[in-house]
Amino acid sequence: MIIVMQSGVDDARVDAVVQRIEDVGLKAHVSRGEFRTIIGAVGDETLLKPERFAGLAGVESVMPIMKPYKLASRDFHPDDTVLEVGPFRVGGECVSVIAGPCSVESQAQFRTVARAVRDAGGTMLRGGAFKPRSSPYSFQGLGEDGLKILRDVGGEVGLPTVTEVLDVREVDLVTRYADVLQIGARNMQNFRLLTEVGQAANPIFLKRNPAATTEELLMSAEYILSEGNDRLMLCERGVRGFDRATRYMLDLAAVPVIRGNSHLPIIVDPSHATGRRELVVPMALAAVAAGAHGVMVEVHPDPGQALSDGPQQLTPEAFRRMMAELAPIADAVGRSLQHAEEG
Ligand code: PEP
Ligand code: MN
Repeated sequence: MIIVMQSGVDDARVDAVVQRIEDVGLKAHVSRGEFRTIIGAVGDETLLKPERFAGLAGVESVMPIMKPYKLASRDFHPDDTVLEVGPFRVGGECVSVIAGPCSVESQAQFRTVARAVRDAGGTMLRGGAFKPRSSPYSFQGLGEDGLKILRDVGGEVGLPTVTEVLDVREVDLVTRYADVLQIGARNMQNFRLLTEVGQAANPIFLKRNPAATTEELLMSAEYILSEGNDRLMLCERGVRGFDRATRYMLDLAAVPVIRGNSHLPIIVDPSHATGRRELVVPMALAAVAAGAHGVMVEVHPDPGQALSDGPQQLTPEAFRRMMAELAPIADAVGRSLQHAEEG
């Protein structure tokens, strides 16, 4: 349920509404927009009747939210959420580019990519240290050694880092080294993990599972938000299709669908979606044209030698070309690429 307060309402009136919500055992989330203050009551709504707010000063309207997610919903938060990640903003009018290798393989490999990403104007550096591989015999990542490289090189080039946390047992560890915690597609409905990262101080990058609906993605987002972590980005990375020409099928319509239903930033990953280097750039351009708040792409100094996902990784040179092509597309849809110097 959301309680919309009259404009210019004072804190005492907001507190009175919060009190009524908490008295029946629900949680209250206050969202102060430019024009209105909205209070979300989250929990078992059968315990809360709209009449509870009748006669309370400052209340403009009381509306049930019919969707199975509340805090992630645009009803609760009409303006786009804009997050601060290091010196950068993500969401709203900004277009962010998150780039780096699939896996952190060595200091030299990661440093080469990191410099290329920074020099071409990337906003965040990605690299996996714990890898969710389909086969247990495939390269599983460097673990904590990889996290150290991620942290050191991220510091050297001055870019915030993003890396996947695979398991609840590793949340504390990854939190010590990385700026943004990625929840991979396979873990989108690992609810214990979502609850755990919902209590972390780091921003979260939540990827859609290839068999999940956009509504299920938003319900997973709700797990994180309802624990109090509201620094959350979503990611579309392709769903299971039938055409073996691409690794997955990029669901670009999910971008405006999610933007309609939610205030959270939505980033597109054309690398995992297509699985093919030559399709990554066209799909990155299309994503920004469709309203995505950014892209995540994989870049490797020598993709032929990559320990994971070689066929979909861009060379640093191709990444530079992509950045040059993205800028006018962002411009054409009234958005702008975030650059290191502007923050
Ligand atoms: C990744 O981004 O490193 C990754 C494994 O992607 P996904 O979870 O989307 O498969
Ligand atoms: Mn990968």
